[in-house]
Amino acid sequence: MSRALYAGSFDPITRGHLNIIERASKLFDKLFVGVAVNPDKKHLFNIRERHQMTTDAIRDIGIENIDVVEIPGLLVDYCNQYDIQYFVRGLRVSTDFEYEMQMFKINRDLGNVETIFLPADPNQTHLSSSAVRQLAKFGHCLDTYVTKNVYSALQNKYSNSDSKSVIA
Ligand code: ADP
Repeated sequence: MSRALYAGSFDPITRGHLNIIERASKLFDKLFVGVAVNPDKKHLFNIRERHQMTTDAIRDIGIENIDVVEIPGLLVDYCNQYDIQYFVRGLRVSTDFEYEMQMFKINRDLGNVETIFLPADPNQTHLSSSAVRQLAKFGHCLDTYVTKNVYSALQNKYSNSDSKSVIA
């Protein structure tokens, strides 16, 4: 049974991430979508919120054979623990490629997990969680960027907080 992990901060999950998830779910028997817990990174949404938003966004577009999980440590350790053979990564621009190649080499040194790169949809190469956060902060409509549940969560977040303190 082929099992793959697509991990990220998903702060928040965007339609770019969902495009990769949808395509990857067709390539493997089981796809784990891993919401990374990274204490060094300042997030807009906490781990519970990111987990819930990601679960709801995936349910909305009706993809089967997916589990959304939280990953507290190294991705490669998680893969070894749960018998996951593949990492899925999305590539938008050349800077993604440089970063991802570095991660690929480190992961290869640490474990026996193969990395599969999927190119971003050409219409979504500009799409990132940070761009979404910036736009939402100024109240812009984002339905081509995020699902409804994510947009509502962003609206709630920015109406309830001092927006200046939340962008990483
Ligand atoms: P990080 O973990 O650095 O915060 P993200 O959660 O945004 O990164 O992204 C996780 C993965 O999704 C990475 O492989 C990234 O390249 C990919 N990705 C992010 N945005 C897009 C997009 N618009 N299209 C395709 N892949 C994307």
